[in-house]
Amino acid sequence: MSSFFEETVFLKAGANDASERNAFSANRLVRNSEHLSSEDLAKAWDNPDARLHLYNMGAPVLAYDGDRARTLFTLQEATALGCDSENGIYLGDSEGLPVLAAKIAPVEELPSGYTCLDMRSMVVSGDVTPEEVASLGHGWSLLSWHANNQFCANCGQKSQIIQAGYRRKCPACEREHFPRFDPVSIMLVVDGDRCLMGRQPHFNPGMYSCLAGFIEPGETLEGAVRREVLEEAGIQVSAVRYHSSQPWPFPHTLMIGCFAKAASTAITMDATELEDCRWFSRAEVGVMLTREQDLKTPPPMAIAHQLIRTFYDVTG
Ligand SMILES: [Zn+2]
Repeated sequence: MSSFFEETVFLKAGANDASERNAFSANRLVRNSEHLSSEDLAKAWDNPDARLHLYNMGAPVLAYDGDRARTLFTLQEATALGCDSENGIYLGDSEGLPVLAAKIAPVEELPSGYTCLDMRSMVVSGDVTPEEVASLGHGWSLLSWHANNQFCANCGQKSQIIQAGYRRKCPACEREHFPRFDPVSIMLVVDGDRCLMGRQPHFNPGMYSCLAGFIEPGETLEGAVRREVLEEAGIQVSAVRYHSSQPWPFPHTLMIGCFAKAASTAITMDATELEDCRWFSRAEVGVMLTREQDLKTPPPMAIAHQLIRTFYDVTG
């Protein structure tokens, strides 16, 4: 069991990191964001070979070609769909060509040949490539940040998009504003061949998952893991090992997954956060991962599932 807390045990043969198997993690766009300017954004809009990710009320627009869904559209298609080009942003390049992201004017029904699917259903459908799932999440996180940060936090004036969408700047006080994302620690606490999972009241019936919580200012990742586990379950944690991370575009979180070694085992649950919290044996976990019985883990698109799956695989 001591080997479980050696990081390399998590990696599959040939993999550079364990994040590769997480949904929203296969982003291959070349961002070059440090060097992008407003002129680059304008040029991208004029480039007939540019392609766009589009969103209707937060749901990516798709066009089916057989079983596969296309998620990149020409400027002509985007215009016909009512694209909000004024607030569009430049995400990066794919094979040397610009990829933009923009919202369309909200509609209940898209024109024939187009549809939209909320982000979670899109991932579960398997109809979109992992690379495009990731760049769609990337685009939505940035567009959401712009939509919610129109005004300067320093002086209250309306700020402007700069760096092709990777920053905002206030024309009055010149303060630059950087895109926000929120780090969340998510951890599976391990005690030999059992692990600790909890359920929140809003979870689907029978679902148990890893504990999780926002990392707070002044805190390390490991410190946040130990604090959350102590607060939610009353369990002391010794070793903490990073496993993988996952951009989670609802709207702009970074989930940071860890394994935590239990240094105590008696649970004192925080009933304001959790409805139940208990130890599960490896055998129970194996059944839960099939998601076909009453008790189940979260679905594979969630990093929690991947942490639980790794625990099961490594302890076998
Ligand atoms: Zn300002």
